[in-house]
Amino acid sequence: MVEKIRTVTDVICPFCGTLCDDLEIDVDINEEKVVEVRNGCQIGTKKYFSSNPSEHRYDKPLIKDNGAYKEVSWDEAIDKAADILINTKRPLLYGFSSTECEAQGKGVELAELLGGILDNTASVCHGPSLLAIQDVGAPTSTLGEYKNRADLVVFWGSNPVHAHPRHLGRYSDFIRGYFRKDGTNDRFIVVVDPRNTHTAQLADMHIQVNPSEDYELLNAIRATLRGTELDGDMISGVPKKKIIELVNILKSCNFGVIFFGMGLTQTFSHHRNIDAAICLVRELNDHTKFLLTPMRGHYNVAGANQVFAWQTGYSYSIDFSKKYPRYNPGEYSSVDVLLKDEIDASLIVASDPASNFPAAAVKNLFKHPIITIEPHHTPTSVNSDIILPPAIAGIECEGTAYRMDSVPLRLRKVKEAPGDCLTDREILERLVEAVKQKKGE
Ligand code: SF4
Repeated sequence: MVEKIRTVTDVICPFCGTLCDDLEIDVDINEEKVVEVRNGCQIGTKKYFSSNPSEHRYDKPLIKDNGAYKEVSWDEAIDKAADILINTKRPLLYGFSSTECEAQGKGVELAELLGGILDNTASVCHGPSLLAIQDVGAPTSTLGEYKNRADLVVFWGSNPVHAHPRHLGRYSDFIRGYFRKDGTNDRFIVVVDPRNTHTAQLADMHIQVNPSEDYELLNAIRATLRGTELDGDMISGVPKKKIIELVNILKSCNFGVIFFGMGLTQTFSHHRNIDAAICLVRELNDHTKFLLTPMRGHYNVAGANQVFAWQTGYSYSIDFSKKYPRYNPGEYSSVDVLLKDEIDASLIVASDPASNFPAAAVKNLFKHPIITIEPHHTPTSVNSDIILPPAIAGIECEGTAYRMDSVPLRLRKVKEAPGDCLTDREILERLVEAVKQKKGE
């Protein structure tokens, strides 16, 4: 058979929060398979190839029956899933960060109908950033502004060379900007990280802070900025002389930005770290222009926070058990409700908690029925009672996603989904309808 190729351009990569928008994808029209990806990094490219039919991809709804999976119709799968969900007292609806905003909205509707716990992956990554931003606000901007203007870039607790591979090339280091014509030669890069990461090896300055002592270092920088003499020669493993040198660099740039990652949000002090980083940025604005932006991991976790906040007033860790939304991270966060063994069923959407939650939480997750909306075999899906296979957003269906700087972008469809897959939004819509019908609403 002659291979016929369809090329789709200006495609947005649905992998990390950088949402690169310049991919070109070649699709074999005869087999509806991705055969070539141009401009993507290694991890983004891999996601496109993983959408092709394989033994790791689900393409039909499955129900576990006597320990083995059997293929069923969508009607049967939705009916069984709705039965499980309405017969539980405290279902957990978790994930939502690797799908489109329209599906996230349906997830909120379903959680409210069920009186369940609604959470997204921010509760184990940038939740502390959201708490701090709610407390003190955040001076921030877009990646385009940083590309055109930033001459000082600080990566604090983030390693974009591995986690956001094209961030440096598109926005923060090597790229030429309108006011930074010489790209990397016009920028000074600082990395604050306990490890000598590959990003640290590219940087002009590496501040090797002691693990989990970021809060002390941030406040030492703030004190030095105010002209206070520091006690002791070392703060958080960093020599006083180096802190003074760093403060002088921060003060003397024209336009600076701090990109911070989970190395700051998930170390001791959590949201207080971000609170201190925001205060530092605010104080730096007495001397020059300075901003900060979180390095979001899942490509649409920023969208999940936006959609949940529009519809409930809160961006994650929401409890609907009183029929109205209540918010209390640490009490209604997925890991906490699982550790306390408070949930009695779960619906996992576009996420794999079994791979990254603490073992004790996963053990309790597996004690109760699990329904997953998931395209691939994962540690969570292979332990589920019902698997509902979706088309992958940004590859097999359109949708909206929010970049790490909260700019919404429209995802493109490049090929058809295999088998009987429906979109996440369609699956959640059908679940909402089935639950409404069963509850007589
Ligand atoms: S940097 Fe992120 S968004 Fe860009 S191609 Fe790589 S994985 Fe995709």
